[in-house]
Amino acid sequence: MIKASAVNKYFGDLHVLREITLEVPRGQVVVVLGPSGSGKSTLCRAINRLEPINSGEIAVDGVPLPAEGKALAALRADVGMVFQSFNLFAHKTIVENVMLAPVKVRKTPQAEARKTAMELLERVGIANQADKYPAQLSGGQQQRVAIARALAMRPKVMLFDEPTSALDPEMVQEVLDVMTGLAKDGMTMLVVTHEMGFARRAADRVIFMADGEIVEDTTPEEFFTAPKSERAKDFLGKIL
Ligand code: ADP
Ligand code: MG
Repeated sequence: MIKASAVNKYFGDLHVLREITLEVPRGQVVVVLGPSGSGKSTLCRAINRLEPINSGEIAVDGVPLPAEGKALAALRADVGMVFQSFNLFAHKTIVENVMLAPVKVRKTPQAEARKTAMELLERVGIANQADKYPAQLSGGQQQRVAIARALAMRPKVMLFDEPTSALDPEMVQEVLDVMTGLAKDGMTMLVVTHEMGFARRAADRVIFMADGEIVEDTTPEEFFTAPKSERAKDFLGKIL
């Protein structure tokens, strides 16, 4: 579903992604771990072309990422992304936030978009808040809306970049629960997170990045009990 081959990315002289080669099969849940600055966010952004790459190739569902234009817009719609900051439209209601992209980008009729949006809000457990504005919701609720909004485009892949890092601790689990539900439903997911419990429970696979490289690519079991590299041992020593 995601295939990256020998991807390199520079910011000026800084080599941020080094020969990243990665395949994520349909339905797999991959958790990306690694210290701050290792290139995790850049990898996510490269996968849906928010960030251009300098060399290599990235394909989603067999389609190589086009550089720009209509094909790029279509491909972006295939890749849902959820960030640390939810970025909901403050002047639109919750249900309107979820309807917006299907109506604008997919030209879905309003009534149909609303119906789908309500189903998705149901799925993330927040349908009863549909007519409120984002500021009236907690951070955890807003992030669940952001997930529903991404799902509204019927993506083939969901990328999560530290979706719970900005949340108060008591709200982390409700967001992880929604993500676990998605994983169980067979969504292909790439999840950057520091939530080791989620990584252990929900991931099919753990990728550990350091300095722009994939240093380990293994099962959660293996990664947490028998990390091979010194860098992974060091990382785990600091966080566990
Ligand atoms: P992570 O998400 O693992 O913390 P990032 O992908 O955000 O790492 O960043 C990787 C490296 O690239 C860091 O050294 C960061 O400072 C640098 N970087 C990220 N975005 C930019 C940018 N827009 N311009 C210049 N450097 C950047
Ligand atoms: Mg990051």
